[in-house]
Amino acid sequence: MENQGNFRELDARYYMPAFGREIMIVRGQGSRVWDSSGREYIDCVAGIAVCSTGHCHPGVTGAICEQAKKLIHCSNLYYVPGQAELAEKLVLLTGMAKAFFSNSGAEANEGAIKLARLATGRKKFIAFTHGFHGRTMGSLAVTHKPPIREPFLPLEPRCTFVEYGDLDALRPAMGNDIAGVFVEPIQGEAGVITPPDGFLEGIRDLCDRHGALMIVDEVQTGMGRTGKWLAIQHTDVRPDIVTLAKGIASGFPMGALLAREGLEFHRGEHGSTFAGGPLACAAALATIRVIEEVMPSIPAKAELFRTSLSRFNPRVRGLMIGISVGDKCGDVQKACAERGLLVNCAADGNLRLVPPLVITPEEIQTACRILTEVLTAKNKLPATL
Ligand SMILES: *Cc1c(COP(=O)(O)O)cnc(C)c1O
Repeated sequence: MENQGNFRELDARYYMPAFGREIMIVRGQGSRVWDSSGREYIDCVAGIAVCSTGHCHPGVTGAICEQAKKLIHCSNLYYVPGQAELAEKLVLLTGMAKAFFSNSGAEANEGAIKLARLATGRKKFIAFTHGFHGRTMGSLAVTHKPPIREPFLPLEPRCTFVEYGDLDALRPAMGNDIAGVFVEPIQGEAGVITPPDGFLEGIRDLCDRHGALMIVDEVQTGMGRTGKWLAIQHTDVRPDIVTLAKGIASGFPMGALLAREGLEFHRGEHGSTFAGGPLACAAALATIRVIEEVMPSIPAKAELFRTSLSRFNPRVRGLMIGISVGDKCGDVQKACAERGLLVNCAADGNLRLVPPLVITPEEIQTACRILTEVLTAKNKLPATL
């Protein structure tokens, strides 16, 4: 196996220390990855819900390689191969009307902020506690977590934060000066937190009453993650704007903004050099073909996770799984890695599993066995590990 030499020293010396990390992953295939020392893992992180089709799916790598040989970039000054086809596909799958592409989730949300401001002529937003919408200045303004937002105050747009799941708190915060309400149908970075029944419907109703747009951030929950193309499709709610990214192109950087009929950018109102380029569109179209095939298997895989981990009260929404672990979360993550399983510690002691949608039942069983061993021994962590 490839050895990347002294990467830790080089990183410590030359790379800004914004991340805490231990291993280098050098290769992936399906739901397996290998680190620089040749160790194999079942990957239940999948680039944080990004590698939806698994690592290096031949349909996706084939599409990227083929497109790379024809045209890597041309600019949105011209029609881009695959761009309109991908827009049509996403519109048909989600029931929205038009698409606009970006290079990331944060950027898709920036676009949503701009579109909501243009469409309503209003400047203020509402978002929810523990919500995450990105780290660029606009998306950060609607992201709740104080330690990541507050060092950058003052931020635009102005945003009021309301307790996630609490319609009684939302009602008085709404007004006729609100451009939009940002909501994750399931909070991902918070650790797979689901709102009470009726919450999303209630937001829709309040947005309608006040002329505000309902902006559903499906960057993490979209593209089949919960067993439907959008998590909001588990309800009857029709959002005004939906944002996508993570799983959309199997790890090729891409995001998308989808809007209902009548909501669109006009000439000159928005743009991007790289967004919606030929490679990204090829990767996304190939990704969608794979997800279409694997989608019917998701409920059974989710059920397998649910039954195998039932003693730990998991929150299972398709292949998005959260388990409250408490302050030993980091130790659990580490102990799992030592046993060949990658899981991720999200906020507030919540362990998060977002494996590739192509994970096999055998891999799920192995992952759950390792996790069960570690969680059962948790109270002895870290002394015995
Ligand atoms: C990851 C994430 C984002 C940010 O996406 P980036 O591609 O990292 O900019 C936004 N919203 C949600 C819900 C996310 O999970």
